[in-house]
Amino acid sequence: MEFFERKLKDSDSEIWAAIEKEKERQNKNLELIASENNVSMAVLEADGSVLTNKYAEGYSGKRYYGGCEYVDVAETLAIERIKKLFNAKFANVQAHSGSQANMAAFMTLVNVGDKVMGMDLSHGGHLTHGHPLNFSGSLYNIVSYQVSPKTYQIDYDELREIAVREKPRMIIAGASAYPRFIDFAKFRQICDEIGASLMVDIAHIGGQVATGLHPSPLPFADIVTGTTHKTLRGPRGGYLLTNNEEIAKKINKDIFPGIQGGPLMHIIAAKAVAFGECLKSEYKTYMQNVNENAKALAEELVKKGVCIVSGGTDNHLMLLDVSKNNLTGKAVEVALDKAGISANKNTIPFDTQKPMVASGIRIGTPSVTTRGMGKGEMKMIADFIKRVIDNVDNESALVSIRDEVYSLTAKFPMYK
Ligand SMILES: *Cc1c(COP(=O)(O)O)cnc(C)c1O
Repeated sequence: MEFFERKLKDSDSEIWAAIEKEKERQNKNLELIASENNVSMAVLEADGSVLTNKYAEGYSGKRYYGGCEYVDVAETLAIERIKKLFNAKFANVQAHSGSQANMAAFMTLVNVGDKVMGMDLSHGGHLTHGHPLNFSGSLYNIVSYQVSPKTYQIDYDELREIAVREKPRMIIAGASAYPRFIDFAKFRQICDEIGASLMVDIAHIGGQVATGLHPSPLPFADIVTGTTHKTLRGPRGGYLLTNNEEIAKKINKDIFPGIQGGPLMHIIAAKAVAFGECLKSEYKTYMQNVNENAKALAEELVKKGVCIVSGGTDNHLMLLDVSKNNLTGKAVEVALDKAGISANKNTIPFDTQKPMVASGIRIGTPSVTTRGMGKGEMKMIADFIKRVIDNVDNESALVSIRDEVYSLTAKFPMYK
């Protein structure tokens, strides 16, 4: 049993080294990927706990395995806490990821082959909202809606027009790269007019919805889905919420045995810890700071002449249109990386570039805000980004920006 007690460093030096390097990278780099965040030590501890050993197919009190009394406590706490957080009547916290949560929502609300309407991926939607290479696009008959070419925001009149013409069985609201408020009441109105179900995916804006910074979809949606690892600052995973008891029963069946086997009990425990943190007043302050930082960053970038899609942001993320600088998202992503800044290329609405090249860069403030950065730092970050855009091919300029980035991040250390 000697192997059992060995520390990772001694047991597997290659993986240990990769983890140490990644920790160093996370500490040194400015993390601006809008879908990422940094979990607390408490979340990390639950995530790495012995609950990973436990099989618990089924739900609290109705498991297919013995010995579930303690994992039941963890799952019940996770459910009670997320219900309170979102003021929802029912919750499922077993979805392994946001995509799994969405798959379960599809199974609950529509049949394979049915017509479903989602936001175009290049206009801000998600793969699971109907991309042809995803289950959503291959198993269902997808019609897409886009943003208005004038405002780069959802045009609810056009949305209604398409819905009335196409009569989808379900409409999906929610996005991965949409910086503006979404009017869930309008979506409901349109759904009611054509007898469609409404699925709302708050994977990105869960934190804003939980703290009242974005209107809640719960009063309007048949199902709300989301992820726990983005603004909610928990372990990687998904969840589903509803106020309808019949739908809740169906969701539970569609997650297990529908699409999953044993739930990840260590992750569910870590979700409970994260939801507990989200219920504290510090979290509301955090989310306010996330939004304020995003606003400040967008304003500084605009001042410097960087084009922001739709002109600004109402949440934690924004899209830079670098085609205005005669650059591609891909080129800017690579240059930012050389300067110690992590962000991702992203198509922008009406993009003329392919997705792997793209004309946009998506950035967000959840991670830098967790590290304690504020408006002063946002000004510095806007300056870094503008200089990178002006120097994509100037290696020495990028290296000197990187030195400045590293001295900034050194003042906000994590995971000591
Ligand atoms: C991130 C995201 C998801 C999927 O999350 P995964 O956990 O990566 O599967 C689903 N929908 C939207 C809108 C997202 O942004």
